Amino acid sequence: MDLIETFAEDPRIAIRNGASPDPHGRCVIYWMRRAQRSFDNPALESAIALANALEKPVVVFFALRTHHPHANLRHFTFMIAGLADTAAGLERRHVGFAMRLSEARHAGDDFARFAAETRPAAIVTDRNPLASIDAWRRAIPDELRVPVLNVDADVIVPTALIGREHYAARTIRPKIHSQLERFLVPVGRRRVRVPWRQPRGLQSINPSRELLDALALDRTVAAAPDFTGGTTAALARLKRFIDGGLAHYAARRNAPQLQGTSELSPYLHFGQLGPHTIAIAARDAAAPDEDRRAFLEELIVRRDLAIAFTTYNRRYGALGSCEPWALRTLERHAQDPRTHRYSGRQLEQAETHDALWNAAQRQMVDAGWMHGYMRMYWAKKILEWTPSPRDAYQIAVRLNDRYELDGRDPNGYAGIAWAIGGKHDRAWGPERPVYGTVRYMSAASTGRKFDSKAYIARWLGRAGAR
Ligand SMILES: Cc1cc2nc3c(=O)[nH]c(=O)nc-3n(C[C@H](O)[C@H](O)[C@H](O)COP(=O)(O)OP(=O)(O)OC[C@H]3O[C@@H](n4cnc5c(N)ncnc54)[C@H](O)[C@@H]3O)c2cc1C
Repeated sequence: MDLIETFAEDPRIAIRNGASPDPHGRCVIYWMRRAQRSFDNPALESAIALANALEKPVVVFFALRTHHPHANLRHFTFMIAGLADTAAGLERRHVGFAMRLSEARHAGDDFARFAAETRPAAIVTDRNPLASIDAWRRAIPDELRVPVLNVDADVIVPTALIGREHYAARTIRPKIHSQLERFLVPVGRRRVRVPWRQPRGLQSINPSRELLDALALDRTVAAAPDFTGGTTAALARLKRFIDGGLAHYAARRNAPQLQGTSELSPYLHFGQLGPHTIAIAARDAAAPDEDRRAFLEELIVRRDLAIAFTTYNRRYGALGSCEPWALRTLERHAQDPRTHRYSGRQLEQAETHDALWNAAQRQMVDAGWMHGYMRMYWAKKILEWTPSPRDAYQIAVRLNDRYELDGRDPNGYAGIAWAIGGKHDRAWGPERPVYGTVRYMSAASTGRKFDSKAYIARWLGRAGAR
């Protein structure tokens, strides 16, 4: 069987055009976008397999794009530390790494320039779950007449097998569970046959502190103090969680004052750690069944549900992505009087009457990561305190994407859609002002479920907790 046809059998891989590898090509390029890591990366392993068969080296291309609305110091500090780790890991594997500052409006133009200089025999890239399933075909210029492989590198069950947006966890779960035996397996690590040698004059910038200082970024959002970017830091955090936190996950995951969850979402978001590494470590851990099951439900079922949502529902960043029943009930209650009303700015500054909400907002702004249980409460109260569900949605997306290290992620869009627009949920009675039948959370009952005083004291100081 032809080499490319073997790849075509793998549901994680989509292939563009019937072109054959260029026999005069000098390398295989892996255009790294989301899976920013040097191992447990199915896209990188596919590039190495292809390059080995063609007896060519592999070079990774990465374009640093600073001209998007959320290019801020927090996200870039984390990402650049991660890229330094990745570059070192690739070097150890004899894979090249070329990073450039994106100058073009379209990412494909940066890539075309690099490809013209390096002449690839074939191209591999990784799938972006915020783009439609086919968007990658257009990202790589048509003139590059070599095979292009798009690898779904950051999910356990390939999104193409899911095939559509799902109504709820209960509808996607059987599909995912039926595929786990096949896909929840180690990614493996191939040896590179032909090491990359950097051609003289090929431009590349180093992911370094100096680079970070020189970039034109929004510097009003400071680096997150408790999160060091990179695979090394991610693996250390994973080990801590597997050795300690996992055994209490089911009982402690909804207790924001404790360190009850893995806090791995920023690493997953930037692809510094793959879901396989985490899921296999949790599956094989000595923790009780109940805890392992609860954690894998979040990491695999809920996460893949969110990825299917952004892939197949192209309105994912707006209220219109939610279910008709939720839109109808919200519309019926759109004119209901609000007991409290805040502007986007007041919310951003944590200037509400509600200490618990303010504490959550401060955790997000100061730490760059908010506990999952508080995220639900946080978004629901934005619905309650703003003039319309549409405003609430916009404010929640804007704050989430700006301040959370793991923002701009399918999980964020799905989480906001769940909290404000009933996505992946069902109608709940009794019908209430503003919410209609969208699930409600009250300050009193939320605060009673955990030591909310300790949480408030931590993020607002002792005075805030009184
Ligand atoms: C309003 C709102 C906004 C959210 N915004 C984001 C966001 O911007 N980025 C983000 O990654 N997650 C977001 N979430 C989902 C979830 O809250 C976080 O993924 C989780 O709290 C991250 O903490 P952790 O890594 O300690 O999770 P753990 O409990 O340790 O779970 C492990 C992993 O499973 C996945 N996961 C956990 N909970 C969920 C969930 N409910 N849905 C989908 N995947 C999940 C995440 O990848 C997480 O890292 C949001 C949820 C809500 C309700």
